[in-house]
Amino acid sequence: MLVRGGGIVGKSLALLLARERFRVGLVEARATKADSEPDVRSFALNTASKHLLESLACWPTGLAVTPIERMRVFGDGNSVVNFSANVLAWMVDASALEQVLQQAVGFQPQVQLNTVEQARLTVICEGSHSSTRERWGVPYQRHLYAQSALSARVLCDQPHQQTASQWFAQGEVLALLPIQGPQGHEVTVVWSVAPEKALQLQHLEASEFAQQLQQACGHALGTMTLNSPRQVWPLQRACAEQWTGQNPNADGAWALAGDAAHSVHPLAGQGLNLGLADVAELVKVLRERDYWRSVDDPKLLRRYERTRKGGMLLMDQGMDGLQWLFTQHGAGWERLREWGMRGVERSPQIKQWLAQQAMNA
Ligand SMILES: Cc1cc2nc3c(=O)[nH]c(=O)nc-3n(C[C@H](O)[C@H](O)[C@H](O)COP(=O)(O)OP(=O)(O)OC[C@H]3O[C@@H](n4cnc5c(N)ncnc54)[C@H](O)[C@@H]3O)c2cc1C
Repeated sequence: MLVRGGGIVGKSLALLLARERFRVGLVEARATKADSEPDVRSFALNTASKHLLESLACWPTGLAVTPIERMRVFGDGNSVVNFSANVLAWMVDASALEQVLQQAVGFQPQVQLNTVEQARLTVICEGSHSSTRERWGVPYQRHLYAQSALSARVLCDQPHQQTASQWFAQGEVLALLPIQGPQGHEVTVVWSVAPEKALQLQHLEASEFAQQLQQACGHALGTMTLNSPRQVWPLQRACAEQWTGQNPNADGAWALAGDAAHSVHPLAGQGLNLGLADVAELVKVLRERDYWRSVDDPKLLRRYERTRKGGMLLMDQGMDGLQWLFTQHGAGWERLREWGMRGVERSPQIKQWLAQQAMNA
């Protein structure tokens, strides 16, 4: 087996395959200068992702994980929807997760780094700009949103109380996500704004940035202080036309997983959850195959593609629809959004259903 791309999806896949007693080659990109700055993001992970990472003994510990117990979504006007549950999701530090996976790969003798060139099955986990996918001519439909996401960590006067908050206003989305443990005073900011505004916010004086942030969230957590570099990601929705196929230049087959196969708006924090669900499904299909089927059997791989494309498209359309709804201007749209949010807030059944979707997606 060959896994190309050693991000969170690629490393998780390599470790799972090794556990199934496959010998795995893992090809990692050479580190660039940009990689030297640690990722400031934290990921909202669902129950399925948590179980998968725990099964690999790669679930970070201590302050790197913060359970979210409440969520508040603010819309135009005064509309707000409140969700609560024992745990809605877990905020996990991106760099802590990368580190535990890196260590686990180092301890796994079945995984060989950067030595294997060919295998019966190559899984491409190189992220949305995958060069192997491009070289092998796999079409990837990409739609760039007119938005970028700025992410940073911010210390707050008030404790976050394990609450994730999101504000939708004038087509922008601001999320404050609780980190540094249940008692923490720190949040990860994900602010989706026009690309020019994202760059402008990135280069503001730290105190001016904090001022603007406080204003945008209505001083929800008191005085704020920037506590990390600010990083910016262009936002896109994308999906590869085919997720599996036969190698163009050699024997064997290929499959795509993670952002190399699809990319969704981070609005609902689901991209990595989807990627880890790809990994779980691919390994399940390989483990449960008839003993006489080889791992590059097209029928087997199509089963993986069918199952995962369905799950991904549902999430993608939901996120795209929400993004579209909240970027429409005019009083009529505002009233419609307010009406919808009030309806959701008044219906415990709908809220419970939405929370379940987020936890199990
Ligand atoms: C602001 C923001 C917030 C987000 N928040 C959440 C969240 O809360 N929850 C969630 O589930 N998702 C979230 N996501 C989505 C999540 O970040 C991605 O879905 C996830 O990181 C994809 O992982 P990946 O391993 O597939 O790809 P990547 O993280 O892109 O990793 C790809 C890896 O492949 C390597 N590579 C690239 N090219 C090559 C090559 N030619 N050869 C070898 N290696 C190569 C790269 O160096 C990298 O290590 C968020 C995204 C953004 C932008």
